[in-house]
Amino acid sequence: MPSFSHSRIDSYETCRLRYKYAYIDRIKVEVEDTVETFLGSRAHEALEKLYRDKKYEKLMSVEELLAYFNERWKEEWKDSIIIVNKDYTQENYRKMGERYLKDYYERYTPFDHGKILGLETKNQMSLDEEATYRFHIRIDRLMDMGEGLYEVHDYKTSSSLPNQEDLDNDRQLAMYSLWVRSQFKDFKKVRLVWHFLAFDKEMDSFRTEEQLENLKAEILSKIKEIESTKEYPAHVSRLCDWCLYKEICPEWKHLTQLEEKPENEYLKDPGLKLVDEYVETKKKLDEHKMEAEEKLEKLKQALIVFCEKEKVEVVFGTENKISVKEQEYIKLPGKNTKEREELIEALKQIDRLDEVSELDIHALLRIIKDEEWDDSQLDVLRRFEAREKSYRLSISKK
Ligand code: SF4
Repeated sequence: MPSFSHSRIDSYETCRLRYKYAYIDRIKVEVEDTVETFLGSRAHEALEKLYRDKKYEKLMSVEELLAYFNERWKEEWKDSIIIVNKDYTQENYRKMGERYLKDYYERYTPFDHGKILGLETKNQMSLDEEATYRFHIRIDRLMDMGEGLYEVHDYKTSSSLPNQEDLDNDRQLAMYSLWVRSQFKDFKKVRLVWHFLAFDKEMDSFRTEEQLENLKAEILSKIKEIESTKEYPAHVSRLCDWCLYKEICPEWKHLTQLEEKPENEYLKDPGLKLVDEYVETKKKLDEHKMEAEEKLEKLKQALIVFCEKEKVEVVFGTENKISVKEQEYIKLPGKNTKEREELIEALKQIDRLDEVSELDIHALLRIIKDEEWDDSQLDVLRRFEAREKSYRLSISKK
């Protein structure tokens, strides 16, 4: 029975190749974590311990909370953990974690608002009547606030703060609230609560029953799309820096190999040499092309002057001849101009706009050229025309 989690669907949506590596090929990578996810895990653990103790009527002091966080940090830290931003060390991240927890503690102590129903819960919810598809429910903290109000709390350690619209469209907690609805008979309302620890900020959102049913259908259809897909293209984005598969991803593999080489070998890399040579050659080609185009334009102008002076229309070379024909064409005001607006208004007034289907310039040009309308109407149209000259040069054998 296929079961899906929020992070699995999110992974598919952000990069299908990453999804394939993680959920289809199930590739194990040597790199275990990024420092951001490591910090998130340690902060979650510390808050879980704080509330678990609270359930047993034991209130941790802020010093005990920080000591627990630091102890777990020391126990779990591995040098294989990736720190993307080289300006900062693991110590900077550890201290950030301490600050998050200290701020949280001060804001919510003595933590006696509502009854704790679950901490880091692990459940599943079926998405269809046949229970073919299941969805993982992982709630950081589930609270009973009394009178049928339940709260789903989520801790975030991300360094950016979403706006309210993002939260009102968030799928993860909304799906969890669907599950909460199905669990409690006295259920009346679910409040979705996010704690953005880096900002010491609490934000919330609610969903209607209709919104949740629509969301369930949307998730089910997304899962079916995931199951039927055969294509797993890479999607390069800033998230690649945090992707655990970056080293094997074809979009980045060569760069990773280059970065591992010492500087003297780095420059001898055949791939690097090919790219440099290709770019250099392309640059030269573009320069030549530009020069040739400029020269061609000058020759064109010179030929036009020659024809006008000599009163000829065809000029002969050794093996070719060039005919220089003067053409007159009609121009009407271009899009997004004041004149264009005026033209539309004028056409409306003479009841002819429908005929040129929302101002079809080609249709109007044809009407002017073939004089399809009566004179007074053509006069209206002609107020907007401008006549310009151009030259067409064609090369052919003698
Ligand atoms: S590195 Fe980027 S493109 Fe490659 S698999 Fe990861 S997320 Fe996708």
